[in-house]
Order: sequence, then C-alpha cells, then structure tokens
Amino acid sequence: MAVRLPVFMDSHSTTPVDPRVLEAMLPYFAERFGHPGSRNHAFGWEAEAAVERAREQLARLIGVRDSKEIVYTSGGTEAVNLAIKGVIGVNRGGGDHIVTTVIESRAVLDPCRRLEREGAARVTYLPVDATGLLDPDLVRQAITPRTVLVSVMLANNEIGTIQPVAEVGRITRASGVLFHVDATEAVGKIPVDVERMGIDLLSCTAHKLYGPKGIGALYVRRRNPRVRLAAQIDGGGHERGLRSGTVPVPLAVGFGRAAEICGEVMAAESARLAVLRDRLQARILAAVDEVYLNGHPERRLPHTLNVSFAHVEGESVLMSLSKELALSSGSACTSATLEPSYVIQALGRGAELAHASVRYGLHRFTTDEEIDFAAERTIEVVRRLRELSPVYEAARSGAAIGRSEPR
Ligand SMILES: *Cc1c(COP(=O)(O)O)cnc(C)c1O
Repeated sequence: MAVRLPVFMDSHSTTPVDPRVLEAMLPYFAERFGHPGSRNHAFGWEAEAAVERAREQLARLIGVRDSKEIVYTSGGTEAVNLAIKGVIGVNRGGGDHIVTTVIESRAVLDPCRRLEREGAARVTYLPVDATGLLDPDLVRQAITPRTVLVSVMLANNEIGTIQPVAEVGRITRASGVLFHVDATEAVGKIPVDVERMGIDLLSCTAHKLYGPKGIGALYVRRRNPRVRLAAQIDGGGHERGLRSGTVPVPLAVGFGRAAEICGEVMAAESARLAVLRDRLQARILAAVDEVYLNGHPERRLPHTLNVSFAHVEGESVLMSLSKELALSSGSACTSATLEPSYVIQALGRGAELAHASVRYGLHRFTTDEEIDFAAERTIEVVRRLRELSPVYEAARSGAAIGRSEPR
C-alpha cells in the first residue's frame, strides 16, 4: 500500500487533532458560544457545564480526585510558568531555592533563568546519566533548608527517557518541598497518577494528546499540602483567582474529550506504537553503522525514537527527507537555531553527535507502511550523505588500518 506524503513523524512538537475531538468542539464554536462565567442565562450555564465536564475528564486521566485542583492555561508553557513563578512569588519564609535538571524543556529552564537573573531564586541544575536518567539521590543531596521547589519532567520530549518521579516525590514529600512535574510530553502516552507519584503541581497541554492548540492545564494540589501560588495573570479572578481570563470553551471541551479518549485507548495504543518504534529502530540499527540510540533503551516513551548518525549532520538528514518525512532533530523550541541539542549534549555525547540527532515521533495515526517507508528512506539518505562525506571516508579508512579509537 502506498503511503500518503509527507508522512508526519514529528509528534513531539504537536499531534494531529483526533476527529472525535474536533467533532466534540464544533458545537462550541457555533450555537453553544456562551461565556462560562455568565450566571444569568442558559448560554452561560451550558458553557460552564461543558468546561467543568472537561475538567473532570482531564482529572480522571491524571489521577486527580477533585477537579477543582485543575487550572486551565493557554498551554504547557504557561502552566509551567505559573507553577515555578507562582511558587517563588509566594513568601515561604525566605525559601528561594529550586532544584531541577539540565534536560528540562525551555519552558522550565527559561523561567528558572529569569528568576535567577532577577535575584528572586537560586537554581540547582542536576545532571543526568548517559541514558538521560536522573538519580533521585542527587535530588535528596541538593535539597537545603532554603529549597522550596523541585521540578522534574516526567518524560523528556527529545529522547523520551522517563524519570523516576515517584521516587523523587517520596523525597520531596519527606523534605516538605513542593514537587512540580512537567508532564507535557507524557500525559496521554503513559499512566500518570499525581497521588502515586507524590506530585503537588503538574503541567500538561492538549495539543500533545490529540487535542487543540491553545489550552493546557496546571494541577495544583489543594490538600496535604495545600499549595499556594502567586497568580501571574490578574483580571476577573477566573480559575480560582490563579489564572484570570475567559476560558476558551471549545478548546476546553476538546482537551477533555482528548483526555477521555487517551484514557480509553492508551494501553493498547502505547503497546502498538512501541512495537512499531522497535521495528523502526531495529531496521535502522541493522542497516546503518555508527548509529547511536539517544535515550534510555527501555525506560522510554513508546512513540519515541532518537538516534544520532555519526559523520552526517542531523539537519542534512532532515532536509533531504523533508519532502517525504516530517521529522525534527529535537525540541521545537530549539529547532529554529542551529545550536546542537543541549539534551543530547547532556548525555555526554559531544557536539558532533548532538548535531547528528534525528527524532522520530510516532502517533495514533501512524501506520505499519509509514514505519517501513521511514526506515527505508532514512537508510537510503544516510548512506548517500555518507558517500558524499569526506569525514566518513576518513573515519572508514582510519578504522580499516586500525587507527581510529574504538567507540
Ligand atoms: C511541548 C512541551 C512544552 C510546551 O507546551 P506548549 O503547550 O507548547 O506551550 C513544555 N514542556 C514539554 C516537556 C513539552 O514537550
């Protein structure tokens, strides 16, 4: 069967909207256009009911019992900003220290850097091992009496490595420190449970789980402990005063429906995608020499494959494939620049292999044929680029006479 071109395999940047999600949203763009804050008529009641139903659908997906603990935002970036700046913005008896990791997304790192620049916080950036895993003991050692927040992503958006957040959660709970998890890439793909994982604040977004762009959410724990946050957007006091502004009702409805569908299909979908991902990985690794897997071989998101092809530029691979295959070298936030991925560099790979990374993001609508196509085209393009590469030639002949370093 022929595949339809171009094939989308960049699902860490965004996912296609599920047709069932679109269908659920449409009435709220049309006849059900009411404002959820309008208390005096049926248009408002209908909108409010829809927004609250969606909140419950999302709550269920992430193990939240009281949907009031969910605050809508414009997306993952805003949710993370509200969590980090919101914690630092509340007086916590002189506490101003944040512990996070070097492989967080820019949505976490940039607010941290701003708070440091402004003198509002001090931040410890913990390293990860060669597979991208954080050692929870490092968190324990980094916590001081001034620490108020630990922020660790659940799964990395470039390499897919899944962090031991439940262990980190036990440490933060025992230390009386708040725990924020950027779960933007993980929610809807792997099971998430704020209770089991000891999470106090959790960020996520609709457009990474087959919902619309423009809406995300922050889970804010209300009991044991009750988390206090400084609002970052003031206005009409919507969302319990934590995030003013009219909730975009159609997007909220889509977010809720998308979460509900993920809850229903996640187990089977993840199993299917892991099989396809493993097939893609096996085919590429078997056909190409000097290719390196980035990320943890097992503790990894099922739809994620990130590899570095030595002696070729990742950008050249992406450009050569771009008419047929939509891929990325890493996070959408950094792909505008030609800087090598800081995530791959943090694995100790070096700048050359960081420049050579290619990320495949499978999704709900990825087919077997698309996987075979992606494998074939990748193998062909890497071989062709290497034939043109003097560096690869030199490395080959060096290896042949035994001069190159074993890797
Ligand atoms: C996509 C992503 C974000 C940003 O979410 P937006 O909704 O696009 O603002 C933050 N963190 C991670 C890990 C992501 O993958």
